[in-house]
Amino acid sequence: MEKQHIEKRIVPWKIVIFSLAMTIVLGSLLAVWIIISSFKTSNTVAKVYQEGKEIYSVDLSKVSKAYSYEILGTHGERNLLLVEPGQISIKEASCPDQVCVHTGAIDSGLIPITCLPNKVIVRIEGTPD
Ligand SMILES: [Zn+2]
Repeated sequence: MEKQHIEKRIVPWKIVIFSLAMTIVLGSLLAVWIIISSFKTSNTVAKVYQEGKEIYSVDLSKVSKAYSYEILGTHGERNLLLVEPGQISIKEASCPDQVCVHTGAIDSGLIPITCLPNKVIVRIEGTPD
């Protein structure tokens, strides 16, 4: 009985609260890290949508040499894709804002490349079937 009493007094409540807080912080950091790394590793298939329809898809993990792929719209719109090992970008575009070109290369499902004027979306989403 006496020993228990002493141990209780040795551990101040501040340390208990601190370790609880650290556990919560580290736990959420770990959770975020797991979510981000699963985005990075499991999603390797880039899909290209034009006017809401999937027109092209490529597994970026299987690309060994960079190549270009041209997307042409029905009213003269043009987007030039650059497919590289592990990443994809829009190199050239006929759109006035050039937002898609300035987005740069993407390698995960976190951010898609969107070209609003040409109605083109490039997104990395699924695992290969
Ligand atoms: Zn654009």
